Amino acid sequence: MKFDRKVEDAGLMRGVAALTPDKIEKTIKAVLDGETGAKLKMYAETCVRCGMCSQACHFYVSHDNDPTYSPAGKVHQTMSRILETKGRLDPEEIYKIAQIAYTECNLCKRCVHYCPLGIDTGYIMLVVRRICYKLGVVPQYIHDTTNSHSATYNQMWIKDDEWVDSLQWQEDEARDEFPDLRIPVDKEGAEIMYSVIAPEPKFRTHLIYQAAAIMHQAGVDWTMPSSPGWDNSDLAMFSGDNEIMGRNKRRHFECAMDLKAKRIVMGECGHAFRSIYDMGNRWLGWKMYPIEVVHAVEFYWELISSGKIKIKEKIKEPVTIQDPCNIIRGRGLYEASRKVAAALCENIVEMTPNGVHNYCCAAGGGIINCGPPFKNTRTTGNRAKADQIKATGVKLCIVPCHNCHGGLEDINHYYKLGIEMKFFGDLIYQLMEKPEA
Ligand code: SF4
Ligand code: SF4
Ligand code: SF4
Repeated sequence: MKFDRKVEDAGLMRGVAALTPDKIEKTIKAVLDGETGAKLKMYAETCVRCGMCSQACHFYVSHDNDPTYSPAGKVHQTMSRILETKGRLDPEEIYKIAQIAYTECNLCKRCVHYCPLGIDTGYIMLVVRRICYKLGVVPQYIHDTTNSHSATYNQMWIKDDEWVDSLQWQEDEARDEFPDLRIPVDKEGAEIMYSVIAPEPKFRTHLIYQAAAIMHQAGVDWTMPSSPGWDNSDLAMFSGDNEIMGRNKRRHFECAMDLKAKRIVMGECGHAFRSIYDMGNRWLGWKMYPIEVVHAVEFYWELISSGKIKIKEKIKEPVTIQDPCNIIRGRGLYEASRKVAAALCENIVEMTPNGVHNYCCAAGGGIINCGPPFKNTRTTGNRAKADQIKATGVKLCIVPCHNCHGGLEDINHYYKLGIEMKFFGDLIYQLMEKPEA
């Protein structure tokens, strides 16, 4: 298949420059023999090239049905080449394989639902990424992020004192509005340990303020950890560094266990949630995780349905909802998300399709973390999402996932959609009953 879309990336170029044919062959053999088995073999051998998965992929649809972007087309250019050559590939082909696996598949698993044989292209692309990671051929930005997880246990190189400072700062701010509010750091035995992704203290501190306001207003017995492991995100999961992925997850649970918390509530992020229910836990070989974990969407519904949070007034203007793959398709939180949305909004206009069939935002699977060189790949690769949003005619979109926010913001600008995006937490904070000022 012709490949005329090479994107220059410092990490991919540096990695490929250090490859030798021997290293390529040995590394591929080590991953295939040591880390894969019947699952990969079955997927690789059973595809009948029927093309039924093609329309399922937003990249294919957005590129006018270009077969090189179809799920089977991407497998054909990557894993099939690896298998048929038994790893005897030249470095330039590894560049192409890495670019496809890291930046042209969101691992969103939509295509699995449309394949009559249940072939999971997302899984295959993860194995390809694992090979590329072991070869040292990884896009620069996501590699840096993984290194940050490795060095600091958080993806943004936030120092321990800066993290605690951010919490204290948000507590101070919130006390103007809620005079008794505390963000209880390292409280032992709390009902809930609340965890967030590192971009919150870095770029979106207001979300910590709002979460604290919601916890306070609902009278929740909660805490946040000060020690490394407070960041629940895990980009190592997407770069192929499975060892760091497992270490991140273990440390996150250890934080909660050290504090003897009863449950973990994770903020509104899709990939961080996937890393605990789908990938990190499996890499660690855990049948069940040591502490119950719930996503913010489920938790918000608990607070609203139990009357702990009361909504003063609903949003009247029409609202649509982005269904993040990792919490809706991957974890079945569609109903919970619609119950929370119905409690907050009078008029919900669904995207078509929605729920488990919704299209990915094109930021997921670590693509947004591959940074500026691949921004164009994401925006042009997701005209399908822009068309979906346009068709609703709605200007306000609930987006309960950080990555989706990033992806939709870029699509919003690129296709001039003129939409505003909110987390559920933004709306709950805005609409809930609060003490009189
Ligand atoms: S982006 Fe999603 S639909 Fe497209 S190939 Fe990857 S997993 Fe399948
Ligand atoms: S639908 Fe399944 S069998 Fe058909 S081309 Fe796609 S992956 Fe292959
Ligand atoms: S970023 Fe959002 S829509 Fe995209 S894969 Fe992740 S959860 Fe799915």
